[in-house]
Amino acid sequence: MERIKIPFNKPHLTGKETDYILDAVSSGKISGNGSHTKKCQQFFEEKYHFKKCLLTTSCTDALEMAAILTDIEQGDEVILPSFTFASSATAFVLRGAKLVFADSGDESPNMDAQRIESLITPKTKVIVVVHYAGIACDMGVIMNIAERHSIFVVEDAAQSIDSYYQDKPLGGIGHLGAFSFHETKNVISGEGGMLVINDERFINRAEVIWEKGTNRSAFFRGEIDKYDWVDIGSSFLPSEVIAAFLYAQLENLEDIQNRRMQIWNLYQAKLSPVCLEKNIGLPHIPSYASNNAHIFYLIMPNQASRERLIDGLGKHNILAVFHYQSLHKSDFYIGKGDDRVLANSDRYTNCLVRLPVYYSLSESEQNFVIEKLIGIIKGL
Ligand SMILES: *Cc1c(COP(=O)(O)O)cnc(C)c1O
Repeated sequence: MERIKIPFNKPHLTGKETDYILDAVSSGKISGNGSHTKKCQQFFEEKYHFKKCLLTTSCTDALEMAAILTDIEQGDEVILPSFTFASSATAFVLRGAKLVFADSGDESPNMDAQRIESLITPKTKVIVVVHYAGIACDMGVIMNIAERHSIFVVEDAAQSIDSYYQDKPLGGIGHLGAFSFHETKNVISGEGGMLVINDERFINRAEVIWEKGTNRSAFFRGEIDKYDWVDIGSSFLPSEVIAAFLYAQLENLEDIQNRRMQIWNLYQAKLSPVCLEKNIGLPHIPSYASNNAHIFYLIMPNQASRERLIDGLGKHNILAVFHYQSLHKSDFYIGKGDDRVLANSDRYTNCLVRLPVYYSLSESEQNFVIEKLIGIIKGL
């Protein structure tokens, strides 16, 4: 097999991860909800003023907690984009939800906020918002719709660390938010995630669900004199070993974000002219949204040109990848729902390509990628 010289992603270690893991191990407490977990949660509560944060073993888990907290029952409808990762859907399907897919916008893979209202029925309980590439959906419009119809908003903020809608941090706007620290994200712990609880009504129950349906958290705070099984729940909390790793990353958040932004901006500056000339789409950042440099993507004119681009880069050992396969056409879902055409979702499925973005991608490596890209695009 040919060696990939420029991979699509390389997990970045900031240096202190193994030190903090050793701290956790030698402290004698390595199960969950210990000092490292609390430090990570506090980091988010202080920096972004999130009301309550609970680390989870994945973003998928955090979304499953959100589905339990919003009391999703058989037949309840959940509106979500089709152009997203399967977890945005599976978390709610597990509780019996009926999925109602919303198309992406013309200018970006984000759900078109203007097209949501027509999908609402008396059974709609939740809108799952996915901020693709960490670029905000139009949360003003979406929260307004949700309020008027008394619907919950869950932000799948898996990609959205340190990104904003106007002056509001993503994950902190909907009733609940879910982050991911999977190794492909900006800040990582291998596998890992976090539930953000913005609506106070959910805080107590969230802690119970997190701790296998027991009121163990309240017990350890001394609020009750014995702990008991009080609700449904699962084992959603990560061990201290994971939290220790994550804390080392969070301490270096600014450095990580700065480096990724440099990479993102260089792609943008050097690729804009040729993309304009060849009718290739670049990331769209609305005036209300910030950019956290999670993904740099191109929207090719068609699937054939995307294939030629990926193959062409592959010949130089540069790995570019595409995603997502629209959920409404997935093996699991096909035949289960309505057959509305979601033209934009299909277009991003066929035409979007992601370029390598990772901390240790050097400027010379990136210039090599850019040079080869421009050559291929000019020859298309
Ligand atoms: C990565 C990702 C997830 C899943 O995160 P895990 O932590 O791996 O569970 C869910 N939704 C979106 C949009 C993602 O990008």
